[in-house]
Amino acid sequence: MNNILEATSINKIVELGKNNELHILKDVNLEIKEGEFVSVMGPSGSGKSTLLYNVSGMDRISSGNILFKGNEIGKLTEENLARIRLNNMGFIFQNINLLKNLSLIDNVMFPALVSKDADKNKVYKRAKKLFETVGIGTIRNNNINQASGGQLQRVAICRALINDPDIIFGDEPTGALDSKSAAEIMSLLTEINKKGTTVMLVTHDAKVAAKTEKILYMVDGKIVAQKKMSKYDAQIDNIKEREESILKWIVENTDSYNNKDVSEEKMTK
Ligand code: ADP
Ligand code: MG
Repeated sequence: MNNILEATSINKIVELGKNNELHILKDVNLEIKEGEFVSVMGPSGSGKSTLLYNVSGMDRISSGNILFKGNEIGKLTEENLARIRLNNMGFIFQNINLLKNLSLIDNVMFPALVSKDADKNKVYKRAKKLFETVGIGTIRNNNINQASGGQLQRVAICRALINDPDIIFGDEPTGALDSKSAAEIMSLLTEINKKGTTVMLVTHDAKVAAKTEKILYMVDGKIVAQKKMSKYDAQIDNIKEREESILKWIVENTDSYNNKDVSEEKMTK
């Protein structure tokens, strides 16, 4: 399988003021294969969102190299990068980001109508089908304030899918949902992934990570561990077991990271 995304030694440094900079990503390497379902976990502030924004070209790294389908992101013009983001990537965020004065279906159609030669009728049909697929066909003409959080997150998924992307990036896409809606959104993402779309999600929830097949664990701007599992299959897998093994793995990695810190400190003293 080819890598859809490859990051080599990426660093993100933010200037906060004179002689004051924050090193957020520290020599991070990662590989995501086409069709993979990946989650990123780690304590709050460890750099998960920053990693997602940078590998998806929403933000620019300070140094290092990112390849998306073989294209070096850092070498693309803003225009070409924007085109790739629009046509090849879908985004789902925790705080949904829909446009308030558009109906739900207009929000979903929006990214597909940006291109001048878009066929509005075709886009409408595709959007309508997506609403049906995620189970909210009847509310497509509603306004945003007439939909629940779980429904809005489904709308966000439709919008992420409207241009049939190669990869979907999600930053805590279930973070603001009750556990039932969160499970439903994860089933949808699992279905989408089974059809071949790569998915990369940031989550702090082991229940969410348990449905993915590779977990990257971040601490303090670095990926300190990686866990691979089989693709999740509701029919065969015991989700509870997967979740427990993830929680155990997190504890192990946090411990070993803390111990490593202590021994490094001792060595330099
Ligand atoms: P996570 O998603 O793991 O909680 P983030 O990637 O959002 O972590 O942030 C990592 C660290 O970098 C945090 O300490 C955050 O406050 C800081 N940070 C992120 N972006 C910026 C920015 N643009 N300016 C200043 N600090 C930032
Ligand atoms: Mg975050």
